[in-house]
Amino acid sequence: MTHECKEQITPENLIKELKRKIDDFMGFAPIGIFQANDEGKFIMANSEMAWMLGYESPASLLQQMTDIASQMFATNEDAEQFFFHLFEAEQVIGFRCKLKKKNGTSFWSSTYAKRAFDIIGRTDGFYGFVMDISRNIRMEKELQKANAQLICIATLDGLTQIPNRRKFDDYLSLEWKRAARDSRPISIIMCDIDFFKPYNDNYGHQGGDETLRQVAKCIASNCKRPADLAARYGGEEFVVVLPDTDSDGAVQVAENLRIAVRSLEIPHKYSKVHTCVTISVGVSTAIPANQDCSSTLIAQADAGLYKAKKLGRDRVVANI
Ligand code: GH3
Ligand code: MG
Ligand code: MG
Repeated sequence: MTHECKEQITPENLIKELKRKIDDFMGFAPIGIFQANDEGKFIMANSEMAWMLGYESPASLLQQMTDIASQMFATNEDAEQFFFHLFEAEQVIGFRCKLKKKNGTSFWSSTYAKRAFDIIGRTDGFYGFVMDISRNIRMEKELQKANAQLICIATLDGLTQIPNRRKFDDYLSLEWKRAARDSRPISIIMCDIDFFKPYNDNYGHQGGDETLRQVAKCIASNCKRPADLAARYGGEEFVVVLPDTDSDGAVQVAENLRIAVRSLEIPHKYSKVHTCVTISVGVSTAIPANQDCSSTLIAQADAGLYKAKKLGRDRVVANI
């Protein structure tokens, strides 16, 4: 397709045409584009820049915003930082801050700016681009919240709301390495509810679930040091990691747990050891050496638990 040439090709017309094209391009841009002088006042802005800051047109923005530092930035600190970077590095890349609108409200923005120099190298203000990133910030915050919830769901046991097996595995592996590095003892306690199958069979699954919740809460709240971690190991089994705790200390905690669960006095007519719900407990302790691995600690606690069951249940057996 050919266009009829209506105007003569003169330098003035070429400049006029170039200016028209630039205006068209700037008017269509979905981001704010601006130019400012050395006094920090806009000398050029596109429509998006004006609308973003709440002005009806570029002309009214240029007229009414006489000082970018105090009128555009939501805080003085942001203005100071922006100009500090601009003058230090001669450019600012993706500067995130809140900008003020004409009506006093603010929005999150990302700004790119570069100092300008004239043909003989004198400073000639700066120019740049501004993007409204409120939506991105909102989405980032929602994502962070969802991530935190996901981590929580992934590491908590759904029924008892105490940490789950996955969390226990991660935590033990971390604390095991720490204990090896520091040559310090680490203990674990393995608990199992006695005669829980007949409990379930007679009191029903819902009753069983409620008892699991109560026992979990009791065990977790009786592990008092900040580094202690109680978790549901599976079924009616619970496990506790006790970093920096020797055998005597761990046995004492285990005995406290056994008594605490018994003291809940949850009736259990079908237990052969007591009239209430009880637990059997195995304890193991190690000062990890290089070749050791944490699964041995679990196996030893498990063996202790097995022995506690064999010896008549409702008891603690350590380090066999
Ligand atoms: P022991 O004294 O030797 O430990 O016997 P036990 O009956 O407690 O052990 P057993 O392994 O035979 O049975 C465990 C029972 O725990 C089986 C199941 O009925 C119950 N159980 C496991 N997980 C859940 C759960 O999430 N909810 C409920 N309600 N019961 C569970
Ligand atoms: Mg069991
Ligand atoms: Mg059991």
